[in-house]
This record gives sequence, structure tokens and C-alpha cells, in this order.
Amino acid sequence: MKTGETRVETRVVDAAFVAGAVDSASLPPPTLVEVAFAGRSNVGKSTLLNAMMERRGLARTSNTPGCTRQLNMFEVRCNDGLHLRFADLPGYGWAKRSKAERSQWQEMIEGYLKGRAGLKAVVVLVDVRRGVEEEERQLVDFLRQPRDVSGKVAVILVATKVDKLVTARRKPALEKVKNAAGGPVVGFSGVTAEGREELWARIRAAL
Ligand code: GDP
Repeated sequence: MKTGETRVETRVVDAAFVAGAVDSASLPPPTLVEVAFAGRSNVGKSTLLNAMMERRGLARTSNTPGCTRQLNMFEVRCNDGLHLRFADLPGYGWAKRSKAERSQWQEMIEGYLKGRAGLKAVVVLVDVRRGVEEEERQLVDFLRQPRDVSGKVAVILVATKVDKLVTARRKPALEKVKNAAGGPVVGFSGVTAEGREELWARIRAAL
């Protein structure tokens, strides 16, 4: 596919908000495969989620009052029968902290990532212009450690807002993110929908 070309193949026939969990007890039972999305505030996570789900405004921006410290869960059904959940993990400090400094919230998110049955992939978002910083590096390291339950969790790295770079600067910027992460990266734009099908393909491969 040429850069900037928009291709929509994965059609979402149904997408709905199912839960805003503040602790592990308020998570819905793990009856479906799940994909979590993580990234610092303003990286473009809500925009990407809405593009993936083809629902404008379903995932709300992280500065929506009252939505900051919730794990928002969405149920998504595609036209080919694929049925899964998306877990929106709002941006938070992934940096290492002592046990005493860890909030109940962090315990919940880390417990989710380490122990959730059905969690198949975590999409880690970075702004293509900022690249991978210490916080994302720590998150990726955390995700590569052994889990408390069986089953691998794929880490899918996405560089957002690629439309903000002129075409000539995109490839080197993506290459830089790829080298910093030590693996492939999907370039994504919420403006052109570039990268949407590639991300769907990576998610499918992880399920
Ligand atoms: P979140 O805080 O990670 O959920 O980020 P949002 O999705 O709310 O996006 C933050 C800001 O970046 C908003 O002003 C968006 O319009 C803008 N934005 C998000 N994605 C893109 C993108 O792919 N391209 C451009 N140009 N702007 C984007």
C-alpha cells in the first residue's frame, strides 16, 4: 500500500462501551479475547480507538472529566465474525515506583496486564515525533516479563500522528522508533486512517 492511501477492509458492525473499571472487581468477566491500548496522554489513543472501531466519539479523550483513572472496556464485532474487546488504559506513569508509592490504580492495571485471562495483545502508542521514551521502554520491559497466567501477550508498537511529518521525514522517524523498540512499528494517522488495516492485521495475528 502506498503511503497515505486509505484502505478500509475491517468493517466494524458493532462497537459499544461495556465497562469503566476502577478496580479489578469491576472488570467484566474474561469471556472474550482482549486487546489493551496504552500510551501517554495526548498521544492520540482515543483518536486511534475511534478509527479502529469506526465510531466517532466512542472513546473519549483522556482529559474528559471523570474518565482519567478508569480502564474503559469496549466490545467490538467485525463483519467477518471477529468478536473481541478493546481495553483503553488511560495514560499514567509507567515509571518504576516503590511498592508503597504504587497506587491502587497502578496495582489494578499491572494486575490486569499480568493476570488477565484472554488478554492477547497490548498496543503501545508513541507519538512519531517524540519516539520511544523511558516510560514506554519500561512498559515494554514490563510486558516482556513472564505473566501470572498462561498465554503470551503480543506487544504491538504504534507510532501515531504520522501525518504531522512530511513524507520524506516519515521513514527515518519510523525507523528510529523501530530501532529504539527493537521490533516492528506500525505508523498510524487518525487523519488519513493510514495504518489502520496494518494494525488490525497485527491484532488478528496475535489472537
Ligand atoms: P489521547 O489523549 O491519547 O486520547 O489523544 P487524543 O486522541 O484525544 O488526541 C490528542 C490530540 O491530538 C487531539 O487534538 C487530536 O485531534 C490530535 N490527534 C490525534 N491523533 C492524531 C493524528 O493522527 N494526526 C493529527 N494530526 N492529530 C491527531
